[in-house]
Amino acid sequence: MKNFEVLGLSQPLLNGLADMGFENPTEIQQQSIPILLKHDGDFIGLAQTGTGKTAAFGLPLLDLIDVNSREVQALILAPTRELAQQICGQMEQMSKHLGKLNVVPVFGGANIMNQIRDIRRGAQIIVATPGRLMDLMKRREVKLDALKYMVLDEADEMLNMGFKEDIDFILSKSDTGRNIWLFSATMAREIKRIVDTYMVQPEEVRINPKNIVNKNIEHQSIQLKASDKIEALRRFLDYDEDMFGVVFCRTKRDTQNVADQLNNNGYATEALHGDMSQAQRDAAMKRFRNKNLKLLIATDVAARGIDVDDITHVIHFALPDDPEFYTHRSGRTARAGKKGVSIALITRGDNRKLKFIASKLGIEFTQGEVPALEAITQKRISRWSENMIKQEINEKIDEQLVNAVQESFADVTKEEIIAKLLTKEYNSIYKRNSISDLNDRSKGRDRDDSPRRERGKRTSRGTEEGMKTYFINLGLKDDINKGALLGYVCDTTGISGAQIGRIVMDKTHSYMDIAEDVASQILTLDGKQRNGHDLRVNEHKGVVKEPARERGGRGGRGGRSGGGFKGRRDSNGGGGFKGRSNSGGSSHRGRRSDSDNSGSGNRSSRRRSDSSSGSNDSGGNRGGFKGRKW
Ligand code: AMP
Repeated sequence: MKNFEVLGLSQPLLNGLADMGFENPTEIQQQSIPILLKHDGDFIGLAQTGTGKTAAFGLPLLDLIDVNSREVQALILAPTRELAQQICGQMEQMSKHLGKLNVVPVFGGANIMNQIRDIRRGAQIIVATPGRLMDLMKRREVKLDALKYMVLDEADEMLNMGFKEDIDFILSKSDTGRNIWLFSATMAREIKRIVDTYMVQPEEVRINPKNIVNKNIEHQSIQLKASDKIEALRRFLDYDEDMFGVVFCRTKRDTQNVADQLNNNGYATEALHGDMSQAQRDAAMKRFRNKNLKLLIATDVAARGIDVDDITHVIHFALPDDPEFYTHRSGRTARAGKKGVSIALITRGDNRKLKFIASKLGIEFTQGEVPALEAITQKRISRWSENMIKQEINEKIDEQLVNAVQESFADVTKEEIIAKLLTKEYNSIYKRNSISDLNDRSKGRDRDDSPRRERGKRTSRGTEEGMKTYFINLGLKDDINKGALLGYVCDTTGISGAQIGRIVMDKTHSYMDIAEDVASQILTLDGKQRNGHDLRVNEHKGVVKEPARERGGRGGRGGRSGGGFKGRRDSNGGGGFKGRSNSGGSSHRGRRSDSDNSGSGNRSSRRRSDSSSGSNDSGGNRGGFKGRKW
């Protein structure tokens, strides 16, 4: 294998690479660096992300720049702020031994005046997103008289993101004999147009995409019901204490939903998507980089180019349509020679797509497993005992205190104490309602095998035992009935029908009993909108008064609430509680299972959120259930 010395790079750069721990050049680096160092002309590098492109153009660029001149000599365009920052960081590391070099990042969403100040101080290299660079050029803050190199990194992605006009503007206004180095994963039609319009007889290096799926990634697929995907993530996190991963969703809305649901259950996760402000995205990325998060839940676009060390897992909450996206996603793990796992959570309908991805990319998926609760329990309990043994004793716990407690334990044996302590840990694992095996190995029809909740006794306030009551400002006047409310809550919060008890509905508001361990998930609806109606949701600790027409009835939902809605309900899930939480509940799940959109609504709402560029798309179902009968 070649090392960096033979590529013709200067000693200060070789020293920088040694500091960074880069020993051998990657394929794109081996092929591109010697050409770029010698060839005074345009260049095309066709390679996927994660192949080492930054150093492939960055190293020759650094050797070709005149560090003694303070003029802008190179522009690097990148599709996202994150990528621009990463490129800058890597350029700075590589050029550590080079001398006075200023690499300035500029991108939208940050204070332009600070960026102008940095440029005025004398930037030899500017790394920019297209929109902000165009803005700065229009303000005449970027002078291009001395420009020698224009690098377009991830050019296909910049065009996908709608930067076509900006790129045309930048290229046409900087036509002063500079060389263009264009890097792209594909030679799409639009890329070809740029090449034909602006480039002259470019040299080309192409890295065969078949070889680019990192060999250190283990690809797994797990077939399960769409409605079990969140639970699967929880189990992965429960099982593997060291998990540090990125979960990819298809839409901003799914991304937010998954993150909210995990967060509400105490898992350190955050969303990353384009509806978040730049400050929010930066904060999330910082927490992730610092490993304060276990999982980052991201859209393809937002996570493009993220380079964070030691990502152990990439999880495809939903498969992408395009195999190339699979490569981009899975390339977040197994970086720099490490190993990683890429897990596709698929429903039965996805098998064909999985085969397509596997054959296009020349990879093989092995069958993975969602850890069973028994395995999680075993692992957690052994971890628990280890930690208990390691636990340092607080110096404030003196003999007197120990003696006092010992007295109260006088009649309890050591075994009993251990068993009692264990019970606490054990219960915290098993408190969830579902103990079922999530791995769907069946070939037949989709079936719902989650255990049905036993109907509980009531507290003095009328709340079912083990549940909490929540107020929701949605009532009959909002064109909703109990069944539709149930469906709406299940679809938007991830709470299952079996975890919901009594529903009391009046004209203007409703009360809903929800199993304690998932109850707070309903608070994600607070402040959101449903059909233009601002939702207010809060825990209700008083007695619930049932509307006059329901009093005398049994007040439960389903067949037990008497009169009003019975007909409508019966015409759907088959009557009564049983009908809904099983056949109604499962049909609800069934619908979601093929929409691949667990916990976040139906296909049509997903399509809306896909195409939506609006900012608040997480406001629930937006009438997805309106025409639907329950
Ligand atoms: P890139 O495609 O430029 O985003 O690089 C992908 C990842 O590989 C980054 O984490 C780089 O730091 C790392 N990398 C790039 N080139 C090398 C190399 N020659 N040796 C080791 N790691 C590298």
